[in-house]
Amino acid sequence: MRMIIEHVNILPGVLQNENALLPIINNAKVHIEDGLFTFVGTQDNAPPFTADQVIDGRGQLLMPSLVNAHTHNAMTLFRGVGSDLPLSNWLFETILPLEKKMTAPIARVGIQLALLEHLRFGTTLVNDMYFHIRDEAEIIKNSGMRAMLSDACVDMGDGRAQLANAMAFYQDFYHKDEQIRVSISLHAEYTSTPAFIEIFMDATAGLDNIIHVHVSETSREVRECISRHGKTPVRYFHDLGIFSKRTIAAHCVAVSEEDVTILAADKVTVAHCPVSNLKLGSGIAPVKNMLDRGIEIALGTDGASCNNNLNLWEEIKFMSLLHKGTTGNATAVSPAQSLAAATSVGASALGFYNVGLIKNGYSADLILLDMDKPNIVPSCNIGANLAYSTQGSDVTMTMACGKILYRDGNFMTLDREKILYEAKAASEALLK
Ligand SMILES: [Zn+2]
Repeated sequence: MRMIIEHVNILPGVLQNENALLPIINNAKVHIEDGLFTFVGTQDNAPPFTADQVIDGRGQLLMPSLVNAHTHNAMTLFRGVGSDLPLSNWLFETILPLEKKMTAPIARVGIQLALLEHLRFGTTLVNDMYFHIRDEAEIIKNSGMRAMLSDACVDMGDGRAQLANAMAFYQDFYHKDEQIRVSISLHAEYTSTPAFIEIFMDATAGLDNIIHVHVSETSREVRECISRHGKTPVRYFHDLGIFSKRTIAAHCVAVSEEDVTILAADKVTVAHCPVSNLKLGSGIAPVKNMLDRGIEIALGTDGASCNNNLNLWEEIKFMSLLHKGTTGNATAVSPAQSLAAATSVGASALGFYNVGLIKNGYSADLILLDMDKPNIVPSCNIGANLAYSTQGSDVTMTMACGKILYRDGNFMTLDREKILYEAKAASEALLK
């Protein structure tokens, strides 16, 4: 498939570790061939190219599609359930009992519901941790999206069996195609033991697996970890060797100065989930300090059960605003840093190294945004517009691997009406 998007303004993205947007290319054109960009530049400089499809991008901004670095897709079915409870009551008294009823057919519906939302709001790559990931891998493949998937190990009696399953999934899917990456993960400190982590590290020694783990989400988690092990969760994972693997640590809200030093030294990527952390009353991660110390920050929504949506534009805005408020410094986090967190930083943290920028040779994973909206006009400061003014509903087209997956209200690979109908029925079955 050969495609042209023309007469469009392009934001090529934000390079990792560079606190500035790449320059906008006005009246530009991209050529896409076999899923990759083969030309990105001005209309005038474009070489001859014959395409099967030509899209007129007038009035639109073309930019990298978004990356959700921490979520639990199937939990869309728990949206609103146990809302406004603190994390421990919400998780242990409300969600865990319901998860016992989360059969594979029900999870499949929840995952598809999540994908509708991701694509509608311009997200094409997600880092998902949940059960039934073989089903999920098939759904992601068919949807045209991308994901890093893990069935996180929880050592509550059957940790070894879970680890064996995770290893088998890894062997079956490791770099088998361009859409799926595999993580062998741990759920959290409070669902693990040092003895199990030793087994985990032995079993995964030599494997190129990224670890995805919840870390220091609440001060209670940290207090209990200190009373169990005499150290914080960050120190616990460091001492047990977890951070010697590439790690994406979700949350990192209740972290000490020493924790931040460890995270920086171990090059851990933090998946910042500001909305979930606020909604569960968990607090605010010290992201300004982390950025100053060179820690890479990606953005995640967490599950729709504690957010309560998967609209990453809200996380971009919250990341941009929250840390100005906590530090009293209006320059604490720039739009470029929040947009990098939601694009290039997230993509490379998940091992997708040719995703997250609009660039020759990169995969054509992109969105079009309608710039002729009352909430965006005038567009004299594109960074500020994207961080503070843009809504998820301003996305008009979402593409991954060079294929259009969503355009102007239509989903090309998902049956919206069927999924919504089944999701309502599945939710009723779970709550009955
Ligand atoms: Zn989570």
